[in-house]
Amino acid sequence: MRRILLVLSALLLSAPLLAACGGSAAPEKAEVRSETLHVKRVEGLPEDFILGMDASSVLAEERSGVKYYNFAGEEQDVFRTLAENGITHIRVRVWNHPFDAAGNGYGGGNCNIDAAVEIGRRATRYGMKLIVDFHYSDFWADPGKQMVPLAWKDMDIETKTQAAYDYTRESLQKLKDAKVDVAMVQVGNETNGALCGETTWFHIQYIMQAGSRAIREVYPQALVAVHFANPEKAGAYANYAKKLDYYDVDYDVFASSYYPYWHGTLENLSAVLGEIAGTYGKKVMVMETSYAFTPEDTDFSGNTISDGGGITKNYPFTVQGQANSVRDVIDTVAHTPNGIGVVYWEGTWITVGAASWEENHALWEKYGSGWASSYAAVYDPDDAGKYYGGCAVDNQALFGPDGKPLESLKVFGLVRNGNDIIPVPDAIADSRLTVDLAGTIQLPETVDAVMTDDSRQAVPVTWNVTDADLQKMQTGGAAEYDIVGDAGGLEAHCHVSMVKFNFLTNPGFEDGDLTGWELTELGHADELYVEEKQTDSREGVWHMHFWSAAADSVAFTLEQQARVEPGSYEFAISIMGGDCGETEIFAYARVDGQIVATAPMSVTSYGKWDTGVISDIRLAEGQELAVGISVRCQGEGNGAWGKIDSARLNSQS
Ligand code: CA
Repeated sequence: MRRILLVLSALLLSAPLLAACGGSAAPEKAEVRSETLHVKRVEGLPEDFILGMDASSVLAEERSGVKYYNFAGEEQDVFRTLAENGITHIRVRVWNHPFDAAGNGYGGGNCNIDAAVEIGRRATRYGMKLIVDFHYSDFWADPGKQMVPLAWKDMDIETKTQAAYDYTRESLQKLKDAKVDVAMVQVGNETNGALCGETTWFHIQYIMQAGSRAIREVYPQALVAVHFANPEKAGAYANYAKKLDYYDVDYDVFASSYYPYWHGTLENLSAVLGEIAGTYGKKVMVMETSYAFTPEDTDFSGNTISDGGGITKNYPFTVQGQANSVRDVIDTVAHTPNGIGVVYWEGTWITVGAASWEENHALWEKYGSGWASSYAAVYDPDDAGKYYGGCAVDNQALFGPDGKPLESLKVFGLVRNGNDIIPVPDAIADSRLTVDLAGTIQLPETVDAVMTDDSRQAVPVTWNVTDADLQKMQTGGAAEYDIVGDAGGLEAHCHVSMVKFNFLTNPGFEDGDLTGWELTELGHADELYVEEKQTDSREGVWHMHFWSAAADSVAFTLEQQARVEPGSYEFAISIMGGDCGETEIFAYARVDGQIVATAPMSVTSYGKWDTGVISDIRLAEGQELAVGISVRCQGEGNGAWGKIDSARLNSQS
């Protein structure tokens, strides 16, 4: 009943809207409807809120033979389908010259300005505006690399600044000549402390200023955007904004990437963007977000996100989970001060559809529809040159491998009014069970169904496991198991960890403080404390956190006196972190005050935990054992950070 009433009211609402359009043949303004997709209404969504789609790969996809369809199953211009479903802006990346000397494209859509003009024309045809994303590089620019275009390679900063200005101006003029409706232009893509081969802010700001000046001249109505990634890094955005302010960079929008798997919580995103809006009066937005509708790959080229891999997975990998993630990002930005929009990253980038890697590879090479072709080796030998391949985000597209739109595409059309249909179970949340080897395995009788409205409801489950299986697990020593079950027709998983007794107190800092531990500060880190943040914890919600802006200031030990009987023991502890420069990090065991064993550890990047393990620690009668971790970062003062979690001390006898 409730649903029928809502559909009726939606019809009533849409009637005057259509009349206002004068009945012009603009099917893209038609009401979006769904029988199955639940969309919670975003309250107070501004009329001009940007609901964008990065569609940079479309031309290369089409050349590779990809066909796109509408919801009626008819082949249709994908830009029209996007417009019909609520997309207001199309974003396109622009590389200076993504081709080798023989004219072979580097891939990733071979997106130069000519491709952008073509995409812009088609977007404009269907009433959408264009967001132009200048990378100021010949290929992908992101926090990991900001390579200078080959033609600008040997330029000093003055010459390069002029080149950036000329290039921006000429490129935008091409769009203007083609009558493309450009709403926003980015000066750089995910420019976390580097741009166009420059790595100091003193130089970066010249390039940004040059781009900004050209944008103001060619498209005075367009917004100038700067774009960064990693909102979860404490203090990073505030620091970028401060630098931009210090150099008086002329921009309107401070934009962020937000990939929920890696980029912290929505609360944090809103806080860091809101702070910039409040301090500098800038508009803020999410320039890239996405979510997986399936863990499966469809083009024989591995994806950045699939099951496992230590990522944050707040929604199931289903079409509904994907829509809910997007909806919540929109809701967050809409309720952040000066929040103006959300752009989805590459919802149209799908498999080129051939039957094997070899056939797909031929298409990627020829048309640039993979993330990189082998030709990119001349420009980027270490990454693209080695790992070239297909689409790494086909499971995060908003079209299926057959080119048909997924129901989740409708989220953009439905957020304004919501689609409050009766929730049904969409997936089963994984259960976790940690069992002491001396204890008994008791699998849960119910599991949490993730409902289509993202609420949870307990449902009964049947586990596909026999008593004999359980007996084997009970006696099989420390090990991990994945038990599969059935809950109302949906697959359920229970991850069982059979563990040895942990002799440490507060081993994962879940007491919320340093109970049991002794912290010795040797280098006066700016931040050094036990932190509550599930996404940064290896287990539970607490971990030990450190961060320091100053050079060479991170140096500390974290140690615990173990209350154990004589015997043989194994100690382990885990760390992740980054930007630490040269490090000396190791787990250690101390017997009667003397360090008897160490295990070197390293930090690489967010989410990559390294575990130091020390086995065969022998303790004789009357001896005392202490275990700990020593951390020393000899960085350049660029914000060394890290997280420590999951200490354990087990008996080995
Ligand atoms: Ca793939």
